[in-house]
Amino acid sequence: MRLEGKVALISGGARGMGAVEAKLFAQEGAKVVFGDVLEEEGRAVEADIAAAGGEAIFLKLDVTSEDDWRRVVETALARFGKLDVLVNNAGIGGSGHLGDTSRAAWERIMDVNSTGVYLGTVAVVPAMQRAGGGSIINISSQLGIVGADTSHPAYQASKGSVRILTKAIAIQHAKDGIRCNSVHPGPIDTPMTAPKRDDAEFNERMLSKIPMGRIGRPEEVATGVLYLASDESSYVTGAELVIDGGWVAQ
Ligand code: NAD
Repeated sequence: MRLEGKVALISGGARGMGAVEAKLFAQEGAKVVFGDVLEEEGRAVEADIAAAGGEAIFLKLDVTSEDDWRRVVETALARFGKLDVLVNNAGIGGSGHLGDTSRAAWERIMDVNSTGVYLGTVAVVPAMQRAGGGSIINISSQLGIVGADTSHPAYQASKGSVRILTKAIAIQHAKDGIRCNSVHPGPIDTPMTAPKRDDAEFNERMLSKIPMGRIGRPEEVATGVLYLASDESSYVTGAELVIDGGWVAQ
């Protein structure tokens, strides 16, 4: 098993890609702690993992709350004794043009998608330093690399900030044995993209930007995250793993 003996913390694990990653990590032998603001959905994923013979605990976590991060990390350490992996996956989407952007909408997206990654990282780093290392995986987006008219400008700015924050963390904590990499999914079939996929005109426009001509599956991202979480990627840090059907290759 590729994560045997590891303890992993995943944010935004109640549904979508985070839930698929929590299940895959448990299947690969990790002890998983995952958090989300959606408590009912989170408990259902926790039950699914237990039924499949995996070990996971769900905790309420709002990634914009330092208190929540402190409690989740303390619980993980008390329960499993260490933390080897953090996946900063929680995020919110958005659509619209710059002119429609209220300051409140801008700040909310930046708070969850960018500040949430910073808070998660500073919450786990001391435990990883004590353990002599770890792997942090930040879920950015293909829109953290290139601009597009298919999402809110604040979303793209937040994901661009995650991309470069990842490299700063990688450099500053390399000597601690902590690796930090970003993952850049293109459009993926999750609840986040459902409203956009349901809009036929929008969906067509989105598909036209993907050389492979199809939306990705959450599993196709989760296997990339698994690689970065495992020791198979022991010399990989500060890297960008693009999983987007070719969107940014053009
Ligand atoms: P999703 O909406 O299905 O899942 C996101 C999860 O994050 C939800 O369970 C949600 O409740 C949780 N979340 C939102 N705000 C939170 C908060 N403040 N604290 C804790 N949890 C919170 O979306 P998804 O598609 O699975 O997205 C996962 C990540 O991948 C996000 O960061 C997203 O921006 C990114 N991403 C998604 C796509 C895509 O096409 N689906 C593409 C590129 C990047």
